[in-house]
Formats: sequence, structure tokens, C-alpha cells
Amino acid sequence: MSTNGLPPYDPQNIFARILRGEIPCKRAHETTHSLAFHDINPLAPVHVLVIPKGAYVSSADFGATATPDEITDFWRAVAATAQLLGLEASGYRILANTGVDAGQEVPHFHMHIFGGRALGRMVP
Ligand code: IMP
Repeated sequence: MSTNGLPPYDPQNIFARILRGEIPCKRAHETTHSLAFHDINPLAPVHVLVIPKGAYVSSADFGATATPDEITDFWRAVAATAQLLGLEASGYRILANTGVDAGQEVPHFHMHIFGGRALGRMVP
């Protein structure tokens, strides 16, 4: 399985440590297989990260190797988090940096949710 130019999964990455409770986070939502928490350096009025609890390096790794239950749980957690944070009415953006060329900094798959203002057109 490709890790999109990133090293193999590192259990010491910061999101793995958050999942183990070694580092605090501002929790937004939690499900059986997923956790949502506020980004420490928000780039929008609402900026939340949704992560699977399993050890997946990138979105491609997750899509190729997670179980159907984990994948369903994850997408429902993304939608539920957006709803809980009041983003349903006017919309939001989801984004997953995937590997080296995308500048993925934390090597544990995460989906950004941005919202709370008009975000404009996205450019690479
Ligand atoms: P990436 O560039 O897509 O990998 O995004 C990583 C994100 O994780 C960035 O938006 C960081 O601000 C965020 N981040 C890094 N460490 C923490 C933390 O300890 N708590 C919450 N967010 C974090």
C-alpha cells in the first residue's frame, strides 16, 4: 500500500497520541471508530479535524485498507460533526491533504472541516 511518499505509520505521531489520551484535544464529536476535534491553529471560524481511530497514514491508505464499518462510521462522523457545529445550513469545506506533494504534516489520516464564513473558491 502506498503511503503517498510518507514513511510507514508512526504510532508516535501527534494524532495517535491524542487518541491514546497522551495529549489533550478540544473534542467536537466521537463515534465508535472516529474522533473529531478542533484544530489547534484554526484557519476558519470553525476548523475541525476528523480522524479514524485506526492506524492509517493517509486518505488513500484509509480508503484502500479500512473496513467498510470504519469507512461508513468515518463519513457519518464527518457529516454529524458539521451538523453539531451548525455548519449544515450554509455549508462547509472538507479537505484531506494526502502525502508529500499536498504538504500533509501529520501522518495519520485526517479530514479538515472548514466553515463559519464564506470560504471563496478553492485554488491549489
Ligand atoms: P495537515 O497539513 O493536513 O497534515 O494538517 C495538520 C493539521 O493538524 C494542522 O492544521 C495543524 O494545525 C493541526 N494540528 C497539529 N497538532 C495539533 C494538535 O495537537 N491538536 C489539534 N490540531 C493539531
